[in-house]
Amino acid sequence: MSLILDGKALSEKIREEIRQEIEGYLSKGFRPPTLAVILVGDDPASQVYVANKEKACHKVGIRSLSYRLPQNTTTQELLELIAQLNADEEVDGILVQLPLPSHINQQEVILSISPKKDVDGFHPENMGRLVARMEDGFIPCTPLGIDLLLNHYGIELKGKDVVIVGAGFIVGRPLSLLMLWRDATVSVCHIYTKDISEYTKRADILISATGVPKLIKSHMVKEGAVVVDVGISKVNGKILGDVDFEEVKEKAYAITPVPGGVGPMTVTALLLNTLKAYKKRIKA
Ligand code: NAD
Repeated sequence: MSLILDGKALSEKIREEIRQEIEGYLSKGFRPPTLAVILVGDDPASQVYVANKEKACHKVGIRSLSYRLPQNTTTQELLELIAQLNADEEVDGILVQLPLPSHINQQEVILSISPKKDVDGFHPENMGRLVARMEDGFIPCTPLGIDLLLNHYGIELKGKDVVIVGAGFIVGRPLSLLMLWRDATVSVCHIYTKDISEYTKRADILISATGVPKLIKSHMVKEGAVVVDVGISKVNGKILGDVDFEEVKEKAYAITPVPGGVGPMTVTALLLNTLKAYKKRIKA
């Protein structure tokens, strides 16, 4: 039985620290940090994610401005709202929940967010800062949350073989850059990789972010590896990760549960990014 990397417990600890820091600013007369949250359409999973993020904001003292736009919103209408929020001195962060409906030009939307308010870290300027290892950018929330979790449990990355399964824009790709920043040797697998187990068996740290339930089986994992499960799939009303938890927990040194692992850490990273944007804005 392996060590459980408890993202829920670590999140509670970090969020309490964030709450106290914000309380300190408010007591000095500063305005509260403010995050604008935009959701287009009525995708049920996105609605749950956005509600969770807003609830987490309120608990730590971040003001959230909620924009719920109808499914038939045009790219132009969304760009106009973002321009208005970019110009608003009291807005520190702008989050546009992805995926957007397919008729909206997602790239154009991401490009339109001021990099200084891009707390999701998806603007190419922030992705570039991640490549350049510049501390002042915003690192995408899921990779940042994973990094915080591994660091908290003292899991060394330098010189280790990190294998990432999944090369998506939100998780796999930016995570590979962050793991390189931490001096790991990084392999990234995806749907066209010939045999992912050839890679996963070598991993000291195996991170899966595909959305394929129970893709990672025990025989694909090295004895004593650290296994991080990013996947979230709903199967018969149950939330499942990418990792066959019951099997793999017997072989791994440490493993994240789903739920309660990477999910809460992603939201915590969003709070941290928003606080970072706020501190720069008020020049604290
Ligand atoms: P995505 O669709 O952008 O990327 C999926 C990646 O997985 C692609 O690179 C694809 O090639 C790869 N892939 C798919 N099937 C594969 C297979 N059989 N073998 C190897 N590679 C395969 O998805 P995403 O946005 O990166 O999200 C991935 C998963 O992570 C989803 O389940 C999503 O819900 C979850 N997610 C969780 C959090 C969290 O906070 N826990 C945050 C973001 C995303």
